[in-house]
Amino acid sequence: MRVVLLGAPGAGKGTQCKRMVDKYNVQHLSSGDILRTERAEGTELGAQAQDYMDSGRLVPDDLIVKMMAGAVAKAPESGYILDGFPRTVNQAEELDKSLASDGRMIDVVVNLQIDDSIIMERMTGRRSCPKCGAIYHVKNLKPKVEGKCDNDGEELMQRPDDKPEVVKKRLETYHEQTEPVVGYYKQHACVLEVDASVAADEVGAKLVDMLDALVGC
Ligand code: AMP
Repeated sequence: MRVVLLGAPGAGKGTQCKRMVDKYNVQHLSSGDILRTERAEGTELGAQAQDYMDSGRLVPDDLIVKMMAGAVAKAPESGYILDGFPRTVNQAEELDKSLASDGRMIDVVVNLQIDDSIIMERMTGRRSCPKCGAIYHVKNLKPKVEGKCDNDGEELMQRPDDKPEVVKKRLETYHEQTEPVVGYYKQHACVLEVDASVAADEVGAKLVDMLDALVGC
C-alpha cells in the first residue's frame, strides 16, 4: 500500500504513521526526519536545508523531490507512508510522474484536519530530550522534574522550529503552499478526511477503520 499522509505541521502525522507501520507492514518515510538526519550527519543537503527549516520555510522543491524519489525507490514492495511530502502541488506532480514511470501510483491519501489554535498549543509546548529523543509537553505530558528528561535527566530543549514565531510561519506556509495539495489529490486519488483534533488513539482507530474498509474493497 502506498499512502500519502497530509495535514498541517503538528496535526499528529508522525504519531499516526508509527501505528500504521506495523499494522500495514509499510515503511514510514518522513521528509522532515530525513532532513534532520542529513543535518545531524553534516551532509551538503543538510547544510542547504538548515536555514529554511529553522525559519519555517519550505526547502526548495528540487532538493526535496530528489531526496524523496531516492527514499521511495528504496522502499519495500509492501509499500510506504509518505509523511511531510509532498508539500507543494509541484512536488505532488513530480511524485506522480516518477511513480507513473514505474507503472505505479499513490493508493490513498489521508488528510488530517485540525484548527491552527490547537496546533499552536501543541507545538509551542513541545519539549524534547537531545540525548534520547523522548518527547514531552509543558501542559499535557510533563516530565517528573520540570525541564529534565525522565530517562536520563538531560535538560529538555525546544526544537528551533517549535518556537511560536516559527510555528506561525509554518502554518502560513502550510495554508499557502500545502493545503492546495489536498485539492490536487481530490482530482487524482482517493482522499480520506480524518478529524485530528481528538485524542491520538481516537484518530488512529478512525484511520484504521477507514483504511481497512478500503483495503477490503
Ligand atoms: P516536518 O518535520 O515535516 O514538519 O519538517 C520540518 C521542516 O523540514 C519543514 O518546516 C521544512 O522546512 C522542511 N521540509 C520537510 N518536508 C518538506 C517538503 N516536502 N518540502 C519542503 N520542505 C520540507
